[in-house]
Formats: sequence, C-alpha cells, structure tokens
Amino acid sequence: MTFKTLDDLPEDIAGKRALVRVDLNVPMADGLVTDKTRLTRIAPTIEELSAKGAKVILLAHFGRPKGKEVEEMSLRPVALALEEVLDHRVDFGSNCIGDIALKEVEEMASGDVVLLENTRFHAGEENNDPEFTKQLAINGDIYVNDAFSAAHRAHASTEGLAHLLPAYAGRTMQAELEALNSALGNPTRPLGAVVGGAKVSTKIDLLENLVSKIDVLIIGGGMANTFIAANGAQMGASLQEADMHDKARAIMAEAAKNDCRIILPIDGRVTTEFAANAPVEIVDFDENTKLRDEQMSLDAGDKAIKNVIAEFEQLNTLIWNGPFGVFEMPPFDTATMATAKAAAELTKTGRLVSVAGGGDTVSALNQAGVADDFTYISTAGGAFLEWMEGKELPGVKALG
Ligand code: ADP
Ligand code: MG
Repeated sequence: MTFKTLDDLPEDIAGKRALVRVDLNVPMADGLVTDKTRLTRIAPTIEELSAKGAKVILLAHFGRPKGKEVEEMSLRPVALALEEVLDHRVDFGSNCIGDIALKEVEEMASGDVVLLENTRFHAGEENNDPEFTKQLAINGDIYVNDAFSAAHRAHASTEGLAHLLPAYAGRTMQAELEALNSALGNPTRPLGAVVGGAKVSTKIDLLENLVSKIDVLIIGGGMANTFIAANGAQMGASLQEADMHDKARAIMAEAAKNDCRIILPIDGRVTTEFAANAPVEIVDFDENTKLRDEQMSLDAGDKAIKNVIAEFEQLNTLIWNGPFGVFEMPPFDTATMATAKAAAELTKTGRLVSVAGGGDTVSALNQAGVADDFTYISTAGGAFLEWMEGKELPGVKALG
C-alpha cells in the first residue's frame, strides 16, 4: 500500500493550514487528563508541521456524545494537557465548524496550534455527511491523518476529508502502518501468532483470517479451553463456549488445509476458586482430559509454557493478541508473563520481529515490563483487531 507522508509535503507548506486528525481519547478524571501516552504519540507530527511553519488545526473526537454537545465530553481540558506535552501554546476553538472555527483559524499565524472542539458534537461526523465534511474542509489546505486508532471508522474527519483535500499520513499513522505491514503484509517467515483472551466468539474473524496466512497459530486463554473441549475433553467449570465447538473444529480443519499448525496448551493451571492465589494443580490436557465439574483452567501450565517458548524460538515474526490466562490474578499471570518475557528477549537479540495489540494484551505486556522490548505495540484497540482480521481500514484506504 502506498500513501503520502510528511516527507511528501509541498515545498510551500509554511503559512498553509493543515487539518490534522488525531486521537485524543485520553483517560480523564475530574476534568484532568490522567494518562498522556496518546498525547506523546501525536506530538512528533504536530511539532514537525509547526516547525515547518504550517498552521496546525487539530480535529478529534472524545467519547460518544452521539451528535450533541455534551459538556463532559468537551476537548477543552485536553488542549491544556497537550500544551504541557508539546511545550507550545495550544489555542482552543469551541466548535469544529462554522463561524467560531473560521474565526479561530483566521487568527492563526505560521506555526500556531489550535484544537477544535469534539467532532462528534455534530451528527455529520459519524454519518460521514458530505455537507459536514465540506464545512470541516474549508478550514484546511491539506489533511493529515495521524489517528490510526480511528481508521476503522469511515467518519467525516477520519475518511471523508481525505477525498476533499490533499491527504497525508502523520508520523504515528506512518509508524503504525509500517510496523503492521512488516508483520503481516510482508513478513519474514516463519510467521506465528498468539491468539488468546476470553472467547472464541469475539475472535472468529481473526482466527479465520490468520490460519490462511500464518505458519503457526498458538491459542491461549479461555478460547483454548473451547478448542480442547471441541477435541473431546471435559473442561469442568472452565470458561469455554459449548456452541463454538463446531466453529473451533472448522478452524482446525482450515488450518490443516493451509499448513498452519495449531498449538494448544498441553497443560493448564487448574483451580476450584476464581480468586487470586487460589490453590493450583497443574493438569495435563488432551482429548481425554476430564476435569471435575468444579475445576477450571485459568492459565496454561509449565509444559505448555515451555512448548510455546520453543515455538517462539523457531519464528522470525510474531503477532500477538490476547493473554494466556487470567493475568489480572496471580498465579494465573504465569504463562502470559513467562512467554511475554521470552518474546521480548528474542526481540532484543534481533531474532524476532514482535508486534502486539489489544486492550488487555497491552496491559499484560506492561505488567510483564516488556512493552518497550517488543518491536511494536499497537494501542489502537479496534483498528488493530480489524487489521489483524484482514479488513481494509477505510481511513487508511482513503490515504492511498
Ligand atoms: P484483548 O483485550 O487483548 O483483545 P481479550 O479481551 O480477548 O484480550 O481477553 C482478555 C481477558 O481474557 C482477560 O480479562 C483475561 O482475564 C481473560 N482470560 C484469559 N484466559 C482466561 C481463562 N482461562 N479463563 C477466563 N478468562 C480468561
Ligand atoms: Mg479486551
């Protein structure tokens, strides 16, 4: 896929108005931003444009105001936090279209940065309404999209604008696309994936897409219980989905057809209590396993961990979504922590390209203290999953 980046900006960018779509969905408490990670991520694009003399007009949504003005979802407090991260003044315009936006932009000088109010205060944003998109576009000479995490939605500020103005990927968007492309678009094989987490039902598209593209699929978490049960085992009180057994068998058959090996946990950490530090028994798993009704598997066992790490050692590229167990509760974090550390070590020695994403996956990798050692960690949630599912992201497509 080809797309323009800030390297392709016109020579005469100084004094031009750049409408920049960013992700400002930062966590807030009592009107204050509590985690500035997302602000740090977009800083390079803003700083580069501003340094080149562009007038930087930021567009973003916040929460789900559903087309109405909702005071608690105003971006005003975010402008202040962004100012601190950038060490650069950030003005605020209390509407993203109309006279307020026009006036705010008219008053800008080269290098200035303005944040306009929540795009989702207007229904036209989520409807990708052409009239609304035009009203956004009149404030810009170019459009820069730096919000990969919103690129799975075809909204006015994430997709529509790319059709009205010369469009560029911002630095964060560019980094994300390059990392993802090197992992799944054009990977160095063997290519493996860890898919874990709670349920098969939320990740069917993902599993189906992967088995036709990768060499090894390592399944963990609650969804591994479903696969083991689909092979004939009785998994007791473990989280599993009885109505997904046919689906699991179909995925295993499809994998076999495509020469994709499926690795299931060969043992598990089994307990009778869903609680931290509950007494644990390690039980071998195969198609003949019969857990008692009150027993549940909350994590992979030691043999499974060894087996997974041995698989990692054979890989050149690894993509990862979903934990191996209930990592929020020790000792059921054991498999996720041990395998995450192994993947991080292999990455550090240059033997593995590792890309991970997903809400709980990112917290698990942070908990393991390895987030900086992976090749790339996507914080893009839904957009990351849709990319892993092989779907075309409208916001990315429109940049092409
Ligand atoms: P992500 O957000 O990274 O896509 P998921 O939301 O699919 O991941 O799954 C994460 C959740 O799965 C965690 O809350 C974890 O506790 C749960 N989980 C993992 N393994 C098990 C298991 N064996 N039994 C019950 N829950 C599990
Ligand atoms: Mg989750």
